[in-house]
Amino acid sequence: MATDSFGRRIDYLRISVTDRCNLRCVYCMPEEGVGWKSPDEILAFEEIERFAEVAVEEGISKIRLTGGEPLVRKGIVGHVRRLRAITGLEAIALTTNGTLLPRFASELAEAGLTRVNVSLDSLDADVFARITRGGSLEAALAGIDAAFHAGFSPVKLNVVVVRSLNQDLLQFARMTVDRPLHVRFIEYMPVGTDAEEGGACAGDSAGHHWTRSDHVPSDEILTTIGDAGQSAGLGELSPVARDDAPGGWGPARYYRFPDAVGTVGVITPLSHHFCKECNRLRLTADGHIRTCLFSDEEIDASEVLRTGDKEAVRAVIRQALESKPEDHNMRVGTDRRMSQIGG
Ligand code: SAM
Ligand code: SF4
Repeated sequence: MATDSFGRRIDYLRISVTDRCNLRCVYCMPEEGVGWKSPDEILAFEEIERFAEVAVEEGISKIRLTGGEPLVRKGIVGHVRRLRAITGLEAIALTTNGTLLPRFASELAEAGLTRVNVSLDSLDADVFARITRGGSLEAALAGIDAAFHAGFSPVKLNVVVVRSLNQDLLQFARMTVDRPLHVRFIEYMPVGTDAEEGGACAGDSAGHHWTRSDHVPSDEILTTIGDAGQSAGLGELSPVARDDAPGGWGPARYYRFPDAVGTVGVITPLSHHFCKECNRLRLTADGHIRTCLFSDEEIDASEVLRTGDKEAVRAVIRQALESKPEDHNMRVGTDRRMSQIGG
């Protein structure tokens, strides 16, 4: 079992397999994209698999693949299959914008992927296209259908809430009534460049930068949905007991409308931050271990992964566990953008 220097059990590894993406969400990356890493800077699948193998020996039991958009990387299905074969790994999940799931969902299920989270921030086609700078809502919704069709359970939907985007939150909550879908509202996080308090963070030239005023605390999100749900006749939104909540590896809190099949969740890194329960490490596509989403103090594992020396890989993983900070201290801004970390 891996523990860090604050006694937290670390059993969850998020791996970003690429920094590239087929969308350009306004809060995640600029319109022109970020300076993509060249293919020789990005870890080969074999190197990621080597890292994962040692990480599992050290106590990791759950892996999530993310990006950029993980499904744009060629060979992703084979990668999932090889990761799944690692002895001791209990589960492997994917976070995706969903648009390529119609192409890949069944193959991924067959390769051993255990669960899927789809990110989707509006159910209005025009707003969706504006947020993603040209993405197709139809493709993303087809991705959710494909995930169900391939038999994934649970299927979770991640919605980042940004005040100035004026999203219709009730529309999302309604999706949980007759489908086993778990919609999680995520507070907009200050990740990206230009780390000034209240200044620009990620975002684009049209003003969609992180600011305190764009951050909507989870209590407000729940009140908005609860009130709108009551007015729409959906009944009262009530907390779901831990045992009854959809299985997960993170800190989401779940709620449900009476008789709904799915749930509504909130993820609250800022308003109720959950560093005490943090159970994760992150590996970036260029081979850096990130011990906290909000900390740029990374450990470069790319060299040791290239040499193939397992004991050297083990040493950097242990170094990462030892240096994991206790708290993110409400930092604002990071050198990497979210698309270069993976969420
Ligand atoms: N492309 C995939 C996707 O969109 O799911 C995986 C990578 S994306 C960076 C992972 C998650 O981070 C997505 O759910 C996305 O909405 C979220 N995200 C990106 N920027 C964010 C921000 N500033 N605050 C909160 N969540 C953010
Ligand atoms: Fe791409 Fe995901 Fe970032 Fe959107 S949130 S730009 S889909 S990496």
